[in-house]
Amino acid sequence: MKKALLCALFWCGFTHAADALPHWGYTGAGAPGNWGKLDTAFAACRLGKAQSPIDIRSEAVRRATRTTGTTPIAFHYTLSDATVVNNGHSIQIGMNHPGAITLPDGEYRLTQFHFHAPAEERIKGKTYPMNIHLVHARQDGRLAVVAVLLKVGKENTVLREVFASLPQKGQTKPLADRIDPSRLLPASHAYYAYTGSLTTPPCSEDVQWFVLKRATELSPAQIAAFRQFYPANARPVQPLNGRWIYSVP
Ligand SMILES: [Zn+2]
Repeated sequence: MKKALLCALFWCGFTHAADALPHWGYTGAGAPGNWGKLDTAFAACRLGKAQSPIDIRSEAVRRATRTTGTTPIAFHYTLSDATVVNNGHSIQIGMNHPGAITLPDGEYRLTQFHFHAPAEERIKGKTYPMNIHLVHARQDGRLAVVAVLLKVGKENTVLREVFASLPQKGQTKPLADRIDPSRLLPASHAYYAYTGSLTTPPCSEDVQWFVLKRATELSPAQIAAFRQFYPANARPVQPLNGRWIYSVP
């Protein structure tokens, strides 16, 4: 293999940190179909039986009942200073004062949110141009991700500053304006819930997923700004392998 290709796939030290690329990605030898073979730590990407993302197909959807323990998500997000990082896989926003969500099994703090284009989740086969993943962690490290689908529409004012000037790959910048992540959510918090994995290596499982049913909007210019860096950073949908998806109105 040529050195340039190796450097495209693997970290080649930090002497050229600005153009160094991570060893996994979305095209070529580092593409999602190869993630499980790139590193033993990524084995779940290949061998896992409860992977994400998924297509939420009607035949797998069950209406949540009291016995499934699925209830409305209580969002406790707050207005906070935030930092944007272009980490080479996506644009990620970290909050200085992270809010939290409350689930039946405890409180999960918002650690970061980031974007994918196209959206990773599908609903009954339908695709969306982008999505947000709000990643939360419980004190013992268990993860819960809320997915918000984004469709083409009016400018998203909460993300105006973020998309007006995205940092270059490997760069971080603080935002001048504070962000309230609750304003990224659609008015309806109805969702589909299922148990899956991280959608990026190491594809760790036992992640609780909450895919909000209603999409919110992003302007064509905002979508274009993101796609300039990340035209395609979505893992393909994974097999359900008999998992149920619970629908919560
Ligand atoms: Zn994600």
